[in-house]
Amino acid sequence: MRPVSAEFPVNQPFGSMKTAGVAPSWTPDTVGWYVRLYGNYQPYGHAGCDIKCPEGTPVYAMAAGTVLWADWGTKLPGDETNAGYRQRWYLYKGFPGIVTVIQHDGWIGVYAHLSRASMNTGDKVREGQQIGLSGGTGGVAPHLHVEALVDLSFKTGGGLIYGRTNPEQYFGSAAIAPQAEAIKPIPKEWDDMATPQELFNAIWGGPGMPMLYNNELGRKEYPGTMLGAMTDRVVRQQITPLRREIAAQNAQVVNLITALAKVAGGEPFDQDKLLAGVKAAAEAGIKAGIQDGTVTVDINVAGGK
Ligand SMILES: [Zn+2]
Repeated sequence: MRPVSAEFPVNQPFGSMKTAGVAPSWTPDTVGWYVRLYGNYQPYGHAGCDIKCPEGTPVYAMAAGTVLWADWGTKLPGDETNAGYRQRWYLYKGFPGIVTVIQHDGWIGVYAHLSRASMNTGDKVREGQQIGLSGGTGGVAPHLHVEALVDLSFKTGGGLIYGRTNPEQYFGSAAIAPQAEAIKPIPKEWDDMATPQELFNAIWGGPGMPMLYNNELGRKEYPGTMLGAMTDRVVRQQITPLRREIAAQNAQVVNLITALAKVAGGEPFDQDKLLAGVKAAAEAGIKAGIQDGTVTVDINVAGGK
C-alpha cells in the first residue's frame, strides 16, 4: 500500500531527473539546482520515488515484512568499495538520513529521510503498519523517499537503477486502512548526537566528503567539531598564564613551608636565602609566561635585595 496518505502526491517519480552531464544551476528545483547541491548523485535518474509531505507524517509499511535496518544511514556498514555498497543495499551512507529498510516478500523496501524510525531491526511488520514519521534527515527538504529493491546484483538498465524498480507498483489500492500503532519509545530522536557527516550535511546543505583540517592543537578535525577546536583554543589561551602564575605561587609556598619547618625544628633561619628563593621561583614562572607572550606582569617581590 501507499507509504503515506494519498493526500500527499509523488513529486519526483522513479527514473526522473538524471544528473549525468547536467551543469550546476542556481535556478531552484531544476536538475542543475540539485547537481549544485549534491553533485552527480543520481546519474541514471531517481532510484526511488519522492512523496512531498510535511515532517512528522506517519509512514506505513508498503507490504508485510521484517525490518532489516532502522537507524541513521551514516551508521550503515561497509566502506566505499563495491562490496561495501552491497553490504548496505547500495545506499549512500550520508544521504538517506534516518532510514528504515524492510525485507518484503521478494523485494526490499527503503524508507528514507525519516524524522523517526519507530521499528527495530528484526521486527515483523504488517502491511500498513506505521513504521515511523517522515522528515528531512540527510540534509533534504521534508519528504518521504521510498525505494523498491528487486535485484541484489544491483543491476542498472532494463528498467532498473541499482537493482531498484518503480516502488509505485507496490502502492496498490488505498483500500487497506492503515493500522495505527503506538510508537514504541526508542532512543532515536532528533536530539541524538549528530555524526560529523550529519553536521556537515546540516551546515553545507547536503552530503559530501568530510573535510579534514588541522585544528589549533594539530589534531585532524571535521567541520562538525569546529566548535570543539575553537573551545580548545580559548581554553589554551586562558589557561597558560594561569598555569604560570600557579607554578610561581607554588614555588613560593614550598619555600615558605621549608622555612617554617626549619624554624619549627630549631634550625637557624636564613631570611636572605629564603627571600632570594621566593623571588627566583616567582620570576622564573612569570618569565616563562612573558617569553611566550601569554603573561604581561610587573613583578615586585617584597623583600628582594
Ligand atoms: Zn528521493
